Amino acid sequence: MQFEFTQEQEDIRRAVRDFATKEFLKEKAEEFDKKEEFPFEIWKKACELGFIGTHFPEEYGGAGMGCLENIIVTEEFCRADSTIGSAIILSDFSCELLIMFGSEEQKREVLQKVAKGKAITAGCYTEPEAGSDLTAIRTKAVRDGDEWVINGSKTFITNAPIADYFIILAVTEETQPRYRGFTTFLAKKCPEIKVTPIKGKHGIRASPTGEVAFKDLRVGDDAIIGTLNRGFYQVLEFFNESRIEIAAQALGIAQGAFDRTVNYLKQRKQFGQPIGAFQALQHRIADLKAEIEAVRMLVYKAAWNFDAKKPDPSLTSMAKYLAGKLAVKVCDEAVQMHGGYGYIAEYEVERFLRDAKITEIYEGTKEVQLNTIAREIFGKLR
Ligand SMILES: Cc1cc2nc3c(=O)[nH]c(=O)nc-3n(C[C@H](O)[C@H](O)[C@H](O)COP(=O)(O)OP(=O)(O)OC[C@H]3O[C@@H](n4cnc5c(N)ncnc54)[C@H](O)[C@@H]3O)c2cc1C
Repeated sequence: MQFEFTQEQEDIRRAVRDFATKEFLKEKAEEFDKKEEFPFEIWKKACELGFIGTHFPEEYGGAGMGCLENIIVTEEFCRADSTIGSAIILSDFSCELLIMFGSEEQKREVLQKVAKGKAITAGCYTEPEAGSDLTAIRTKAVRDGDEWVINGSKTFITNAPIADYFIILAVTEETQPRYRGFTTFLAKKCPEIKVTPIKGKHGIRASPTGEVAFKDLRVGDDAIIGTLNRGFYQVLEFFNESRIEIAAQALGIAQGAFDRTVNYLKQRKQFGQPIGAFQALQHRIADLKAEIEAVRMLVYKAAWNFDAKKPDPSLTSMAKYLAGKLAVKVCDEAVQMHGGYGYIAEYEVERFLRDAKITEIYEGTKEVQLNTIAREIFGKLR
């Protein structure tokens, strides 16, 4: 068993940390959060330095590394700032599905642009009536001559208002069970894809979200990602990787809130001494540190397994479940230990707490993760 990162991985971590510490400034984060704006300039710089697409193959503009290196970038970005970090790491959302199943042309068209900061992607799975239960989607792709005509609507789609490419899960055949007739498609931004931004989110407000409506969107067979009617299975395989990334987002947010709290406890004085001198608080900090370290091991293990071509859905769900819960817990404790100051926007932990919550919701809620873990334990009992 090897618990050390390679020199290259350590170098990536240091480079990402240096960049994020310099660029993800508190004042900027507050502004993006308040105005609900994506940090375009910082994202461009991050792409120029190769921090987006570290895990894309080199022939498509990436660094040819794996899930673990992407996890390092994600963790460091979200540790430096929960708002800017979360928005930027999601700019390539669903590209992993293209890497896994896309055609040569699709990968060449999209991945290079994404890695270079010239395009943003959106993965359209959730629908108003189909969230945790993706088998209930209604968006349809109907064959018409040598084209497919897509109609339907998706909701809560990350990046939709700023996306150049859309990856769409649609029904292509009415079968039983339904999910055997789903296919994923790649489409470019066009008038037949109507996006309505969703404003007023609780957290990750620099990461744009929107509703997406497809009205007679026509695509050819070359838009099919992978194999016809295998879309649902492909999305499940994609979740094996994307859920680890969200776990790393949660881990980074937890670590960021933790760092800020330790600093605060060293400075803030009450009863004539730094509040960090009170053992009651020291124990809580020590407890959080132990939990962060335990979850970190789990997240890295899930990433390592993925890279070793042994993806383990149950382990991935454990990592996402515990990391999300931890992020919310650490940020909540961070606010508590900042006292009244933790409750106002000027102190970053208020924002970290809001940003943390999403990691228990998207890419499968925490209940859905428990279902996956339980399925591995019990199988089908009925
Ligand atoms: C900011 C944001 C960004 C998002 N980005 C994307 C995106 O880019 N692409 C995309 O496709 N989707 C995206 N989503 C959607 C997200 O993945 C869904 O919101 C999530 O999967 C839950 O679905 P739902 O909201 O319909 O909740 P529901 O499925 O209606 O769930 C409601 C509650 O019931 C629980 N529940 C449901 N089924 C079960 C069950 N079988 N057992 C136990 N409990 C259950 C859930 O855990 C939850 O607590 C995003 C959501 C948000 C808020």
